[in-house]
Amino acid sequence: MRDIPNNLFRVKSPLRGRVLENRRITPEARGVKNDVRHTLIASPGLRYIPGQSVGVIPPGVDPRTGKPESLRLYSVASAAKGDLGDGRTVSLCVVRHFWKDPATGEEHAGVCSEYLCDLKAGDEVLLTGPVGMHFLVPEDFRERDVVFFATGTGIAPFRGMLQELFERGHRREAWLVFGVPYRDVTLYDEEFRRHLEHPNFRYATAVSREETNPNPDRIPTPNQKMYVQALLYARRAELGPVLRRPRTLVYLCGLKGMEKGIFEAVELVGREQGEAGSLVERMKAERRLFVEVY
Ligand code: FAD
Ligand code: NAP
Repeated sequence: MRDIPNNLFRVKSPLRGRVLENRRITPEARGVKNDVRHTLIASPGLRYIPGQSVGVIPPGVDPRTGKPESLRLYSVASAAKGDLGDGRTVSLCVVRHFWKDPATGEEHAGVCSEYLCDLKAGDEVLLTGPVGMHFLVPEDFRERDVVFFATGTGIAPFRGMLQELFERGHRREAWLVFGVPYRDVTLYDEEFRRHLEHPNFRYATAVSREETNPNPDRIPTPNQKMYVQALLYARRAELGPVLRRPRTLVYLCGLKGMEKGIFEAVELVGREQGEAGSLVERMKAERRLFVEVY
């Protein structure tokens, strides 16, 4: 059996992590709405596998319940050995969340994402976890092709997964299809470009507010924006055969809406390329489809 760490730290006995660095990874000029942080936290004793999440307990009391704030989950954004390579850190990739109160129309910042985005080096942060037993890369990954679809901070788990795949000798086809609003907010872009030294790596970005969906009649998107599902369809000649191969692992992470969009595109490509039934259902039956969207 594979040793998957699980809930090594809980709310009642959380890990007292220490922020080593909290770096904004999108241009300041994009404003608070595109504020994404790469947060490096010293977390001795915390073991994890990329694809798992950790809990963060923000300080304060939830005014709605009068109880201490509850934990929020964040995907681990580092490989198991951590960004410093000593197995004693965890990295997160956090977007500053905003929401509008439908009753008042007022806009509010999310409690925990704001707390995380504003942390400074040296600050303490309470962590729980790790959690998640399924959104992982299986041990037989060397025999597999892999396709990752991410939107925004949904890239977090794939950063660590890609690092580990290449370090551990994955040589089959590995795709990253990444959706972002603007080209200059393509998270970890330089790092992914460096992975292009691996001849098996394919990296494609869908820049929704700067590129146009070339097939809006087949894959409708709002204002003909370039979304990951539109990119999948545009590159169907390459991606279709990969997605159809029983050995290919397919991962989706990010915004809830991407699931429906990707599934519809997969079904369309499947039909066009000769699938008798539903390609999504076949992927599920072959236990090679992994989805984490919120
Ligand atoms: P909150 O303050 O919790 O607000 C969230 C929502 O709650 C608001 O949009 C609003 O709808 C509602 N709400 C809050 N307060 C009120 C109120 N007073 N009245 C009415 N409604 C209210 N995010 C990342 O950035 N990076 C990640 O890697 C990441 N990974 C995740 C992994 C998993 C498995 C899951 C489940 C989520 C992940 N998230 C990630 C999302 C993250 O957990 C948080 O949901 C996100 O940061 C927002 O939390 P918050 O405390 O800032 O917002
Ligand atoms: P974002 O910047 O708002 O969006 C990223 C891209 O996705 C944008 O280009 C956006 O286009 C596009 N998009 C919007 N709707 C889409 C749809 N229906 N289909 C395909 N693409 C779509 O992303 P974000 O603010 O980082 O938010 C990411 C979300 O992922 C958050 O909700 C976060 O909680 C979640 N998340 C989950 C996990 C997890 O489950 N493990 C991990 C990390 C993050 P436009 O904005 O131009 O329309």
